[in-house]
Amino acid sequence: MDIALARHWVQAIAVAMDEHQDRLTQLDSAIGDADHGANMHRGFNAVLATQVSYRPDSVSQLLVKVGTTLISSVGGASGPLYGTAFRAAGKALPGTDPDPAELLAALRAGLDAVRELGAAAPGDKTMVDAFLPALDAFEEEVRAGGDLAAAAARAARAAEDGARATVPLQARKGRASYLGPRSIGHQDPGATSTALVFGALATAAA
Ligand code: ADP
Ligand code: MG
Ligand code: MG
Repeated sequence: MDIALARHWVQAIAVAMDEHQDRLTQLDSAIGDADHGANMHRGFNAVLATQVSYRPDSVSQLLVKVGTTLISSVGGASGPLYGTAFRAAGKALPGTDPDPAELLAALRAGLDAVRELGAAAPGDKTMVDAFLPALDAFEEEVRAGGDLAAAAARAARAAEDGARATVPLQARKGRASYLGPRSIGHQDPGATSTALVFGALATAAA
């Protein structure tokens, strides 16, 4: 991944959050406070705005900037969580263009940071339930010798499956957990937006 590809990724995320804003809001209105679409839309619009004049030296720097922008522009749980993920991923990258294995390691660092901050385990009906299977699928493809486009495409499919698999789960973290068993039967908004983030990576890398 080079800086141009990282920029395309970020732009594709912003497009996806724009296209799917209403859906994310609807999902969050069922088990949260109906702001996830607006939160993600605001965050990635702010990221786009900072990117216009920002000339990073590396993908590492670019992703750190994405993270700090999300943290400062998004209230709610998702801003600090996504922001921390991008920042930790950026910090874990080398200063040179990362190969797929280096990107995978950085994304794992991002997931670790989310889990440290949010204390969510797999199956708690959060973004972790899309993020973790996405990285496992990415890793399988990289191990099989696949390039970034192939790894990202597989990760995106796995993230979507993971998001769908949150429907029968009871939320154990975040706002939705206040509903107890009434959170069952709805797809988690954050897992859904995480699938969009990986879908955007697949689009950019294709
Ligand atoms: P808020 O709940 O503060 O309104 P959002 O609606 O933007 O924030 O984001 C909600 C999403 O954040 C949830 O659907 C879930 O995926 C994710 N989330 C909430 N708490 C946690 C947590 N502790 N760990 C991981 N993800 C979480
Ligand atoms: Mg919300
Ligand atoms: Mg909120």
